[in-house]
Amino acid sequence: MDGNTIRPSRELGFVLSMLSQMGLMVIFALSYNMLMGQAGLLSFGHAVFFGLGGYATIHFLNYAAKENGAHFKGKCFVFDDRLAVAVDPNEREPISRCEISGVPCDTYLNCANMECNKLFLCAKDAAMVMEGCCSDACKNATAKRPFDPENIYLPYRKWYNYFSAKLKMSREPEAAQ
Ligand SMILES: [Zn+2]
Repeated sequence: MDGNTIRPSRELGFVLSMLSQMGLMVIFALSYNMLMGQAGLLSFGHAVFFGLGGYATIHFLNYAAKENGAHFKGKCFVFDDRLAVAVDPNEREPISRCEISGVPCDTYLNCANMECNKLFLCAKDAAMVMEGCCSDACKNATAKRPFDPENIYLPYRKWYNYFSAKLKMSREPEAAQ
């Protein structure tokens, strides 16, 4: 699988990016409240620093995209199903390594033990050996997602998507009534 395929799902981007923008604005408003509201200091620089950060970031990203990532190593981590997005459209040597086998790799995987669910870098061979788990302890855990060797890097979904309704109820006794 290449990491850049956009899969249609409601987890994709929109809610996350809106929530993170709301979070940014909350921090911005709280810090201004601390200055102006609590301390009575009129700050003209406040919005300038906030704006400069955004301005510099977007120009840097535009530049990286225009240059096809020529001065950019590795991938950008994003908070939707794609997880890692290449700046350079041509595949480049990964700069990160698999956490299990140590080979160069830039593919993320959620640990198949749903009580762990750790997001870690994992190469295909290591995922096969570990059945999608991050450690031996997780490999022997009970709440494991079924491992599908054909679709190792399918995005993680909530645990009840992987089990029958009966098992779901046995794990959630209050929901069974
Ligand atoms: Zn784990």
